Amino acid sequence: MPVFYVIRLRNAGNAAAWICFLLAGFILFRALSVFRVMQTAELFAGEPVLVIDAGHGGFDGGAVAVNGVRESDINLAISLKLDALAGFLGHRTVLTRADDSRRTDLLSYSEHEDLVHRAELVNKLPNPVLFSIHQNYYPTTQPYGAQVLYAHDERSTLLGKIAQSNLVSSLQPENRRLAEPAPKSLFLTSHVNCPAILVECGFLSNYNEMEKLMSDTYQTALAAVLMASYLQYLPQHEHI
Ligand SMILES: [Zn+2]
Repeated sequence: MPVFYVIRLRNAGNAAAWICFLLAGFILFRALSVFRVMQTAELFAGEPVLVIDAGHGGFDGGAVAVNGVRESDINLAISLKLDALAGFLGHRTVLTRADDSRRTDLLSYSEHEDLVHRAELVNKLPNPVLFSIHQNYYPTTQPYGAQVLYAHDERSTLLGKIAQSNLVSSLQPENRRLAEPAPKSLFLTSHVNCPAILVECGFLSNYNEMEKLMSDTYQTALAAVLMASYLQYLPQHEHI
């Protein structure tokens, strides 16, 4: 056989071997990817989802401070910080709203429908844990301090007490408020089938607290304490 053909055949053989090698590598890579996706899905299936509900929003500003700042904006700012922290630590989150966009026009807006929509969103998720973020308001300026309200079940009670204790010890040692069962009239905590707390981060009617609640630093501190409370609660709730 002429040397020329031998070289061509050898090259052809090498090329075929390389193609087979690359194909085998590609198939192996695909198989591993599918396996990894399945593994991740299985892991996620049982993993809790931190649902962060920034109270009010859109046409519903919630309480309004004397300087005109809206509760809904502070709720959103704290919620986004909590979401960022949770994401950074590798925890799954879902936000009931991520901005101040209006889902309906002013005339057709209904707070009740909005809350029904939020409860439905939570109840569709596998293994959710709800943190609803709000600010308090009182007709006089004296009252201050964060307070956690929890849904009427053991897991929510545990979560609520952990969060209240952490908020007091980390941010407000002089705060004498205790975590309490949420009134039945609070729609979200009464209509979700999961551990749920509503966090009143502070009073917009108290000047000092309002200034703190508006500051980036204090909002981050609140988010960090709530994140720590979630992490502290997770291993404990399995034993209830
Ligand atoms: Zn509110």
